[in-house]
Amino acid sequence: MSAFNPDDFQLSREHSQRLDHLHDAFISGVERHLGFPANILYDYTDLHRFFNFTINNVGDPFADEGIYEINTHAFEREVLAFFADLYHASEGAYGGHITNGGTEGNMYALYLAREALPDGIMYFSHDAHYSMPKIAKVLGVPYRLIRSQANGEMDYTDLEKQLGEHPDRPPIIVATIGTTMKGAVDRIEEIVEVLKCNAIENFYIHCDGALGGMVLPFVEHAPLFDFQLPISSISVSGHKMIGSPIPCGVVIVRKEHVARVQREIELIGSHDTTLSGSRNGHSVLFLWCAVQRFGIDGFKQMIARCFDLKKYTLKKLKETSWDAYSGDYSVIIMIKRPSDRLVRKWQLAIEKDSAHLVIMPNITKEHIDAFIEDLRQEKTRLIKKKK
Ligand SMILES: *Cc1c(COP(=O)(O)O)cnc(C)c1O
Repeated sequence: MSAFNPDDFQLSREHSQRLDHLHDAFISGVERHLGFPANILYDYTDLHRFFNFTINNVGDPFADEGIYEINTHAFEREVLAFFADLYHASEGAYGGHITNGGTEGNMYALYLAREALPDGIMYFSHDAHYSMPKIAKVLGVPYRLIRSQANGEMDYTDLEKQLGEHPDRPPIIVATIGTTMKGAVDRIEEIVEVLKCNAIENFYIHCDGALGGMVLPFVEHAPLFDFQLPISSISVSGHKMIGSPIPCGVVIVRKEHVARVQREIELIGSHDTTLSGSRNGHSVLFLWCAVQRFGIDGFKQMIARCFDLKKYTLKKLKETSWDAYSGDYSVIIMIKRPSDRLVRKWQLAIEKDSAHLVIMPNITKEHIDAFIEDLRQEKTRLIKKKK
C-alpha cells in the first residue's frame, strides 16, 4: 500500500500570506458595510469544533433518520418548529427545511406551487427580488409583472386587471415581505381581497420574506403575512437578520404541498422532498444556536434596536439635508445616491439615482456618524464647486 499522509503536504508561505491578506481585508471591510442586509454580530465559537465533521442533512428533516448518521435533522426540526410557531403554522400541518438561502427557499416553494397548479401563471411586482424571473424561467412557469406603487408596494388594481386577463389559469402570487431596495411590504390581506372579489378559489400565495420575514413579526402593528391567512409558503434568509457565516435560509410550507413531491430513495434509506441532494448541516447549527439563544424576546430587542438606530440615522440625514426615505416596517433607508467613491467605501447597494443603507444589528452609531460626516464633506465640496 502506498503511503499518503496529508500532513506531508503544506500550504506554501506565499499561499498562507494570501489567506492572511484576505482575512485583513475582511476585518477592514466589515467596518464599512452599510448597504447589505447581513448581520455579522454573532459568535458561534461553540460550533467551531463541528468543522471537523462532514454534516450532511440529505433528505427530508421530518423523515425517518436515514443511513448517514452525521446529520443535524433533530436540530433542523427544532429550528423549523420555531419558525412555524412564529408564522402561526399549526403543529404537524407544515413541512419545509433549512435551505442555502432565501432564493432556494423561493425556488422550492414555487416548485411546489407549480406541482399544485401545473397551468398556473406567476404574478409578482416590479419591486420583487431579481431572482423571481430566473425562478420562473427555471421552472418553465409563465409570469406577469405587476406595477408597483411609488413606495414599492404591489399595485393591487394592476394585479386585479392582470388576473382578469387570464381567467382560466390559476394564479401563483408572490408577495414580497420587505422588498430589497425600498423595504416595501405587499399586503396579503389586499391580495386575498382581490382574489375573493373575483371569485378566484384556486390559487397559491408565496411570501418572500428574505429580510422582512425576520423583521415584521417583531414590529407592533405590522401587516400580517403568515399562516393565519390563506398563504401556502414563506421563505426567509438565515444570514440576513439572524446572521450566519454561511448563507442559509428557512422555508416553511403547508404539508399537503410537500407530500405531493415526496419520493422514497433507497440509496439514502429515507425519503426526499428537497431540491438539493446533500444538504448543509452546519448552517442548521448556526440557526439553532441563534433561535435557542435569543428566542422571541431577544429578536424583539434586536429589531427594536435597529429601528432606534434607523430613527437616529434619519434625523442625521435630515440635519445634513440629504434626501432619505424609509418604509414603516423596514430597516432599509433609501437615500439620494452619493458619489461613486462613497458608494464603494461604504459598500452601498445602488439603483439608478438612489442608494440604500440597511440598519442591521452590527451597525453602530459610530458607523452612522462617520458615514454622515463623509456625506457632509461631499456636500460642502459640491457647494464650493458650484460657486
Ligand atoms: C435577499 C433577498 C432574496 C434572496 O435571498 P438570498 O438569501 O440572498 O438568496 C430574496 N428576496 C428578497 C426580497 C431579498 O431581499
